[in-house]
Amino acid sequence: MEAKGRPEVLWPLFGGLEQLDGIGPKLAETLNTAHIERPRDMLMTLPHTGISRALRPSVKGAAQNEVVTVEVTVGRHMAAAAKGRPHRVTVEDAETSFQLVFFHARGDWLQKQLPTGRRRIISGKLELFDGIAQIVHPDHILTVDKGTDIPAFEPVYPLHAGVTQKVMWRATRSAVALAPLLDEWIDPGLKAERQWPDWQQAVQSAHTPTQVADIGLTAPARERLAYDELFAHQVTLALARARSRKAVGRASVGTGALRAKVLGNLPFRPTGAQIRAADEIAADMAEPVRMNRLLQGDVGSGKTLVGLLALLAAVEAGGQGVMMAPTEILARQHLEGLEPLAEQAGVVIMLLTGRDKGRERIRKLAALAEGKIDILVGTHAVFQKDVVFHDLRLAIIDEQHRFGVSQRMELGAKGEAVDVLVMTATPIPRSLALAQYGDMDVSVLDEKPPGRTPVQTALISNTRLDDVVSRLRAAVEDGRQCYWVCPLVEESEVSDLTAADERFKRLRAIFGEGVVGLVHGQLPPAEKDAAMARFASGETKVLVATTVIEVGVNVPNASIMVIERAESFGLAQLHQLRGRVGRGAAQSTCLMLYQAPLSETGRRRLDILRETEDGFRIAEEDLAMRGAGDMIGTAQSGLPRFRIADLERQTALLDVAQKDARKLLVDDPTLDTARGKAVRHVLWLMDQDRAIRLISVG
Ligand code: ADP
Ligand code: MG
Repeated sequence: MEAKGRPEVLWPLFGGLEQLDGIGPKLAETLNTAHIERPRDMLMTLPHTGISRALRPSVKGAAQNEVVTVEVTVGRHMAAAAKGRPHRVTVEDAETSFQLVFFHARGDWLQKQLPTGRRRIISGKLELFDGIAQIVHPDHILTVDKGTDIPAFEPVYPLHAGVTQKVMWRATRSAVALAPLLDEWIDPGLKAERQWPDWQQAVQSAHTPTQVADIGLTAPARERLAYDELFAHQVTLALARARSRKAVGRASVGTGALRAKVLGNLPFRPTGAQIRAADEIAADMAEPVRMNRLLQGDVGSGKTLVGLLALLAAVEAGGQGVMMAPTEILARQHLEGLEPLAEQAGVVIMLLTGRDKGRERIRKLAALAEGKIDILVGTHAVFQKDVVFHDLRLAIIDEQHRFGVSQRMELGAKGEAVDVLVMTATPIPRSLALAQYGDMDVSVLDEKPPGRTPVQTALISNTRLDDVVSRLRAAVEDGRQCYWVCPLVEESEVSDLTAADERFKRLRAIFGEGVVGLVHGQLPPAEKDAAMARFASGETKVLVATTVIEVGVNVPNASIMVIERAESFGLAQLHQLRGRVGRGAAQSTCLMLYQAPLSETGRRRLDILRETEDGFRIAEEDLAMRGAGDMIGTAQSGLPRFRIADLERQTALLDVAQKDARKLLVDDPTLDTARGKAVRHVLWLMDQDRAIRLISVG
């Protein structure tokens, strides 16, 4: 557990939980399962609400179930009349009398705690039972001189099975006591402007709120601690960014000649956003640092053209470029789209996938190594060890929204001087983009090519499946084509497949042999391609599919999208699927079938898709409804888990953290100034081991 190099001042916070008051091996184990493993984790587990226990003269006027704290005179004891009945004690405060109720309690013990005639401070939840006010098992019974032991405002911690508030209270107190005095890592101007306390003070206050407002996101202490978390993470990303930019970058300055040719031959005019993004990328490539850039654009926003222009810049500069797609189908489609444009400009483009074998593959690799090929398009086969380029200058990764920071770092390590452009079709809210891609520079295509007719989207109960099928038959007779996406069944490929297979057979029985095709992830690649090709050429009219068609596939004549069990998909995924239609001139339709009855949230989610086709808006709504952790599988997304910071509601803070982190590394790239050294502490504190490694590698 002891990480090498961790500053000694932080050691107590990274020891075992047992050093905290009231935590033995058993409780420690329980807490570990809730990801509280060290005093530091306890410190960062903050109360989520609080209870006022301020002393009041009387319970009179208190609401049902309100927690009250009053001074009383103890009256008569009424021992349990029978087994299972409670022991009752009448008490009297300044204005009224009420009862304390105890089940399964020993009478003599109660007599000792509550001697008749004495005064006591009682705190607990007030209930009304048969018109009589009572407190069942008070939380506190104290002699009057000990009354101040009850905090006027008691923090309430999120609990895990087997751990009580009392345990959390004691353990957090002793964790706070371990918090050392640390040098300040926050920019002094920012800290003053926000009126944030020092770290140690912040930790202390966050655990001893005195009113509800102290628990809110904007309470200075909590905001500061949230900022620390975001800032440490952003410093890591900024370090990664700085390092990749520093790494033997090469200036790829294009002449613009090939790009001009291709643009001159386009059947349409590029959108303003496409031009802007292409310019940003070209300018970045022309810098002698290594590019690490994200191109974000909704489905159909025309990312491929922007990618091509970047590849051409690399070729103009005398080098080569590679574009990697996640699937064979997409790689082929890219090739088909790019080849005619590239050829007109005299650029040689080639496809390489896992299916290239033997002599053919050797021939391709040789041509690549000799520089006879300018642009390589393929699947991840293009990153295999024996694939050697003559002069690779740009690598584009398409549709890789499930690529985490560490994977990008690995990829970066492969081609040292290569500029990297990641294209993602999943619009993500700004907060997530900052958290997930903070190490990259970002270009956004926020404008769609003109002339698209919006897709008509309808929600239909699956009890009306027969209606849908007959509508479909009419459309097919009209020469239209349709995707039919089968449900996600418990994330299991096998059951997805069964569902798709069954649907395929049923539709084939209705539409006839040769009209319906089927693609799914487990089909041998050649068959998958053949099925896609038959659909693209119009031979088959209906394509039954699992979500393999989710990303990128382009068949302009397909104008109907049927999605079964739409409620089982994520909003972003539905948006992606719908984006497969509406690509041609014809009016397109998306029919989202749901299993009735639909829950209220289920309907609200799907309604968003009916309201808008703006991927960014859909993503924001999705985030608001589901929360960041859920939206993207956290582990695979590279999205950090924050304990205190709230990604959805503290985007502005995240923005500040990113700017501050990047500026810090400009001023102090090696973190050696006084502030830099303090920043190292917060990196250790926040488990940013990766960052620590980046600094030590230098
Ligand atoms: P995506 O961003 O989803 O990858 P594509 O690059 O596949 O989008 O583009 C979708 C379609 O739009 C393609 O058929 C492409 O030729 C076309 N397209 C791209 N840019 C424009 C434009 N500026 N005007 C008209 N059509 C365009
Ligand atoms: Mg694309």
